[in-house]
Amino acid sequence: MTENLNPFAIAQAQLDKAAGILQLDADMHAFLREPMREFHFSIPVRMDNGRTETFKAFRVQYNDARGPAKGGIRFHPDETIDTVRALAAWMTWKTAVCDVPLGGGKGGVVCNPRNLSAGELERLSRGYMRAVSRFVGLKQDVPAPDVGSNPQIMSWMLDEYETIHGYHEPGVITGKPLLLGGSAGRTPATAMGGMVTIREAAKLLGMNLKGATAAIQGYGNVGSFAHKLAYEMLGLKIVAIGDEFGAIYKEDGLTPAEVSAQMRRAGKVGGTPGSQEINNAQLLEMPVDILIPAAIENQLTGANADRIQAKLIAELANGPTTPEADQIFKQKGIYIIPDFLCNAGGVSVSYFEMVQNSYGYYWTEELVQERLDQKMTTAFHAVHNMAEERGIETRMAAYLVAVNRVAEAVRARGWV
Ligand code: GLU
Repeated sequence: MTENLNPFAIAQAQLDKAAGILQLDADMHAFLREPMREFHFSIPVRMDNGRTETFKAFRVQYNDARGPAKGGIRFHPDETIDTVRALAAWMTWKTAVCDVPLGGGKGGVVCNPRNLSAGELERLSRGYMRAVSRFVGLKQDVPAPDVGSNPQIMSWMLDEYETIHGYHEPGVITGKPLLLGGSAGRTPATAMGGMVTIREAAKLLGMNLKGATAAIQGYGNVGSFAHKLAYEMLGLKIVAIGDEFGAIYKEDGLTPAEVSAQMRRAGKVGGTPGSQEINNAQLLEMPVDILIPAAIENQLTGANADRIQAKLIAELANGPTTPEADQIFKQKGIYIIPDFLCNAGGVSVSYFEMVQNSYGYYWTEELVQERLDQKMTTAFHAVHNMAEERGIETRMAAYLVAVNRVAEAVRARGWV
C-alpha cells in the first residue's frame, strides 16, 4: 500500500500515537485532533497586465489555549488547507515544547512568488492582511514568515494592518526588518536554534562535531544560515547542499562563502566552483554523520528511508519525515531531532520580538542569542529525558511534552 502523504493525516496520526502512550482522555484527544478555527478566502489582485487574478488563501488558528495563535504564512504553489492545518498543529506543539506563552496557527497563499512582480507581491500581501485583519492581532493571532515569504512581505502586511487600524502595533507580526521593530537575531534564529540542538545531541551521542560530515537539503533562509552556522559554530564539514533546482557535492566540504557567492551570481547552488552536481536523492542518501532537511515536508518517506545513512537527522524543515520513515529510522537506530523541537528557534525569537515590541525596548543580538540558547537547550533536554524515561523515540517524546502542556491549559480553562 502506498503511504498517505497528506500532511494533516500525518499530523493527526502522530497525535493519535502520542495520545495512546499518554492514555489521554478521549474527549481531550478529540478536541486536540482538530483546528479550533479556520478562515478560507479569495484575494483578488490587480496584475501588472491590467487583469485581476484571484488567489486562494487560508489562516488556521489550531489552538490558542496557551496564548495567541502563532505561526508563519507560506506562499507556495502546492499549498492546501490540509498542509496549513498540519503546519498549524505543529506550531501548537512547537510553542508548547519550547515553552513560550503562545498557541499555534499557520497561514498559506496558493501562489508562486517567483512568478510575481514586486508590485503584484505587495498587492497580494496587503490583500492577505486586509482579509485577516479582524482575526489577527497581538492578543489573537500573530503571523510571521515561512516558506516563500520574507521580512519585506511582513513589512507590507504590518503597514496594511496599521493603516486599517490607525495606530502602530508592531507586535501584530514578527520576522519584521529591524527598522520596523524586528528583533536582532531573528533571521538566523531557526538555524541557530537547530545548531543548539545538534550540539546537545552530539554530547549525548558522543559524536565529535569538529570535522563531522553533514548534508543540507534546502538553501532558503533556514538552510543557508544552517550552512553558515554549522560551519562556523559547530565546525562541521558540509559536503552536500541542495536547493529546489538541484544539489552539489564536494568531498573537502563547501564553505558558506563559496556557496553564497554562487547564490548571488546564479540564484542557485548548482555550479559552485569545485563542486560536483548530484541529485536530491543522492544528497539525502549520502553517507554523512548528520543530515539536515531544511526545505519542505515529506522528503524522508517509506520509499527512501532504508537508504538513509546519516547517524543523526536534524529536522529544520517542518514535517520532512513520514511515519513510515520514522519506523525505519527507529530500526536503524538513527537519532532524530524532531522538527517542532529542532526548528523552534524561529518562533522562540518571534516571541522575543513580541516582548520587545510590547515594551518598546530592544535587546542586543548577544542577549537574544543567549536567551535562545537557554530555551533550546532546556527544550532539548526535556524531550530527551522524556524519551529515556518512557523508552520511546524522540518524536513521540516531543509530542508527550507538548501535548501534556497544551492539554493542561485546555483543562485549566475548562474547555474539556
Ligand atoms: N515559520 C516559522 C516556523 O515554522 C516561524 C513561525 C513564527 O515565528 O511564528 O516555525
